[in-house]
Amino acid sequence: MQALAERVHVDLAGRTLTGWEPLGFAGLKTVTPSPDELIGRMLRAVGRRGKYLVFDFDETQARSPRLLVHLSQAGRLDLEQPPKRNRGGKGGVVRLRFGGDEQPEAAVLIREHGTERKAAWWVLAAGDDGPLAQLGPEPDDDDFAELILHGADRRRVHTLLRDQSTVAGVGRGYADDALWRAHLSPYATLAGTDAAQRQRLLGAVRAVLHDGLDRERTRTGGLSEPKLGGHFEVHGRSGTPCPRCGDPMRRVSYDSYEVTYCPACQTDGKVLADRRFSRLVK
Ligand SMILES: [Zn+2]
Repeated sequence: MQALAERVHVDLAGRTLTGWEPLGFAGLKTVTPSPDELIGRMLRAVGRRGKYLVFDFDETQARSPRLLVHLSQAGRLDLEQPPKRNRGGKGGVVRLRFGGDEQPEAAVLIREHGTERKAAWWVLAAGDDGPLAQLGPEPDDDDFAELILHGADRRRVHTLLRDQSTVAGVGRGYADDALWRAHLSPYATLAGTDAAQRQRLLGAVRAVLHDGLDRERTRTGGLSEPKLGGHFEVHGRSGTPCPRCGDPMRRVSYDSYEVTYCPACQTDGKVLADRRFSRLVK
């Protein structure tokens, strides 16, 4: 999301919102202010908070109306220069049109693959944080370091890393990669880790995010490919050799996702029970 925000910023900051086309019914999560109130305003900056893209309008940083976009798992963002005339295809959410003095027209198309309908957007009045108010600190913040180094959270680390109200912007993939880098079990808890392991975990979370950002910065355009495919070090690679020790990576399957780990590097060689597999053989 960070790299995508940077690309949208480079392409569109300084242009004026000239219109918006609702393409789906459920996408807009706010009633007031109306998106119409953003028309004619200049897009000052595009940034990121957690997994949200944040479009800041107007000149003054502190009190500007904002538009948020959350792509969720299957959401895509196309940069259209010039804007297209179609309805965004199946799964269209919204098209935001931008123009400006002597600048060619451009648009951002938000759309979603599949049938989940989770991609969404918000228009927030100045001073309203909307869903951003629920987010925990960013991984680079001191508050996150404090939590990892001294916290007594009893949940599994994998779970707390994915909880956006605990720390913002870490998904399943980065959680898998961070635990693998830190040599920690997917079932590890903060309460059960010592100071050295906590320090390793903090460094690993920050490192996988920074490395991921470096890779994502090599992309161009919107986000139209299957998101982050082949992007992770170990996430989604069960059955392939561990990049560090060469032993086969394993997985634990849940209903809608799976956790990838290396027994040799992370669990003292112990293979964790795979619930889905266990159910099948019963
Ligand atoms: Zn390994």
